[in-house]
Amino acid sequence: MSIDWPALRAAATAAADHAYAPYSGLRVGAAGLTDDGRIIVGSNVENASFGLTLCAECGLVSALHGAGPADQSDQSDQAGPTELVAVAVVAGDGDPLLPCGRCRQLLLEAGGGSLLVDTADGPVELKVLLPAAFTTTDLAERRDQETSHDQETTREQETTREQETTRERGAQ
Ligand SMILES: [Zn+2]
Repeated sequence: MSIDWPALRAAATAAADHAYAPYSGLRVGAAGLTDDGRIIVGSNVENASFGLTLCAECGLVSALHGAGPADQSDQSDQAGPTELVAVAVVAGDGDPLLPCGRCRQLLLEAGGGSLLVDTADGPVELKVLLPAAFTTTDLAERRDQETSHDQETTREQETTREQETTRERGAQ
């Protein structure tokens, strides 16, 4: 698939125009090209609490999932979710910005290590920007070996135990 980087950057710049950044004054737009050829955008959304601020890439990834597959009639999950193949993130001036650490992690699960990220020096694969990343493989291999059914049973037992303890307290 050929990637029209100027178009992607232009879409990101247009998204930056719609950013809500009254506190930092740094408007950011992100545009991603999906593997089915669509462009999806996001803008940063700040908040008076500061800590609740959403990066433009958060909005982009949320919009990616919210939009669903291009072919809405295809209800089979066999093809997996739509993935990003290229991303451009820019400030209000239209020049590239690199995603923050959290967003590199977020983008990894939306496009994988081969996702191309626009930089001032040209496209770079995400795995270069996020080496030795934590991935779903780590999750699958390192989690407790209990099955989810075991965990449900444990939770039920804990709830029963809590109820018994509450009853005992009430009896005293
Ligand atoms: Zn970010």
